[in-house]
Amino acid sequence: MCASPLFGVADTVVEIKLKNPKRKAADIARDVGVSRERIRQILKKNGLCTRLPRLTNICINCGKPFPRGDKRDLYCSPECDAGAALCYSDMRSMR
Ligand SMILES: [Zn+2]
Repeated sequence: MCASPLFGVADTVVEIKLKNPKRKAADIARDVGVSRERIRQILKKNGLCTRLPRLTNICINCGKPFPRGDKRDLYCSPECDAGAALCYSDMRSMR
């Protein structure tokens, strides 16, 4: 849809990532001037790791990865924390 203005950014992103595998998506985003989400899409498209496993937890409620390091090490958001009991029972009844 809005492909043309960002054409070429993907190459830059991949290059940065290959040179600096430890560089975070957020930092690359700042380097190239696009959103983190865009970086993630580009990396994924090119088969590159989109996050650093050690810096990321998986939310036990919704399964989304989120940055580690704050108090919430089980949930990605206060919403997930609050809704966890509900979702957890949903998951159990589905299995
Ligand atoms: Zn979550």
